[in-house]
Amino acid sequence: MRRRLVFAILLVSFAGAALYFLSQANRQLRRETRFMMGTQMTVTMVAPALDAERIAREAFAKAEMVDREMGRRPGSELTVLNDEGKGTTGPHLSKVIEAALKWASGSEGAFDPTLAALIDLWAVEKGPHPPPAQKEIEETLKLTGYEKVSRTPDGKGFVLGGVKLDLGAIAKGYAVDLAAESLKNDGVSDFLIDAGGDLYISGTKKGKPWKVGLADPREPGLLIMTFNPKEGAVVTSGDYERYFEWEGVRYGHVLDPETGRPAKGAASVTVWAKNAADADALATALMVLGPEKGLELVAKHAPAEALMIDREGKIHKSPGFDAVMPRSAE
Ligand code: ADP
Ligand code: MG
Repeated sequence: MRRRLVFAILLVSFAGAALYFLSQANRQLRRETRFMMGTQMTVTMVAPALDAERIAREAFAKAEMVDREMGRRPGSELTVLNDEGKGTTGPHLSKVIEAALKWASGSEGAFDPTLAALIDLWAVEKGPHPPPAQKEIEETLKLTGYEKVSRTPDGKGFVLGGVKLDLGAIAKGYAVDLAAESLKNDGVSDFLIDAGGDLYISGTKKGKPWKVGLADPREPGLLIMTFNPKEGAVVTSGDYERYFEWEGVRYGHVLDPETGRPAKGAASVTVWAKNAADADALATALMVLGPEKGLELVAKHAPAEALMIDREGKIHKSPGFDAVMPRSAE
């Protein structure tokens, strides 16, 4: 009887150990990609082969939910709010609008989530066309301004006060954060998420640090530097990503809420922060503010760090940038 029990225990523990080693051996580097938010979202992770697809699917589902709720497409929660001018908002949209308004006042309006009318006027996505006239820009600026937005008296939604929201400069970061959270909840600790320049880095690539490259803003096919970022988010915004040209002038997709014209602060901005929503908002603000004011703003939001390439190609870094974004060997 006793012997049988010992044997059974031994068998169970052997089977357990075998299963453990099998599952470890099974941990592969997996890459999954989806198209969303007008860009590719790629998850590279070290995960058990059997679960990898499900884990990636769950992470993508979170990001897709953000896209569905916060995109400017017909029927989205954001579009309904924009059309009605006020209303109750769900937990995710409330959180992102709240964060966006915080960044708007924190950046003295350089980041402004109420630029929908101005963004539509410029229609950067449309391709080459004559830029809008100064008069039109001035008229449209009257339909923007984050100070006009307030909470509904019950605190469950927002009153827009005559403006329309565009969360394009923060929602992608938030989507990346939810995807990262989903991976962590599924027990994955080694991964890199890249949603068109909004990155989240965690752990290692099978023991080696993850490597990320920074594109040369004037030759986007080339990398000018590569880094091994510390755990957190790395977001890059640049005037080379989405723009149109007209009569030899480049018009980028980040707009300066003060002038109503494309931002001239920098050619490219890379921000490291604890989460991608903050890094995304900051990167956009820095595109508007330029190196001097931009790095002042970053200093106020430590542990955030930034590297900016100005329009002459000169590099400006916050003092702690190298510590969180060490250069990689090759
Ligand atoms: P990307 O989507 O290329 O990563 P950003 O995060 O910089 O770029 O966001 C740019 C988008 O944000 C624009 O396409 C527009 O929808 C919106 N936007 C443009 N200018 C501003 C601004 N000053 N503040 C907030 N949002 C902006
Ligand atoms: Mg942004």
